[in-house]
Amino acid sequence: MMGNADQAVTDHWVESVERRGPRSDIGRYRQGATLLGISLNAYCEYIRAGLKWCSGHKAWERRADFGPHRRYPDGLNSICRVWDRESARNRQRAYRRRSA
Ligand SMILES: [Zn+2]
Repeated sequence: MMGNADQAVTDHWVESVERRGPRSDIGRYRQGATLLGISLNAYCEYIRAGLKWCSGHKAWERRADFGPHRRYPDGLNSICRVWDRESARNRQRAYRRRSA
């Protein structure tokens, strides 16, 4: 399930955070930390550990579990693949109910 491309994206992201430091995305990180009610430092620790907040499951998950998304600055979706699949299924079900 985890292709080389995904791994490359993950590596690139962790690398860029390491290189530029948390200041590079400080606004977004601070926003994320505030949203989760944790300190900015704690938030950055998660990022450095290769994790990403899944806004679907409301949990920290491995960055490799997220699909690509061009519109987001880190190139990854804000929800993991599992949640993405589940929500697509739920949307389909809701659609079928409506049109029945
Ligand atoms: Zn998830």
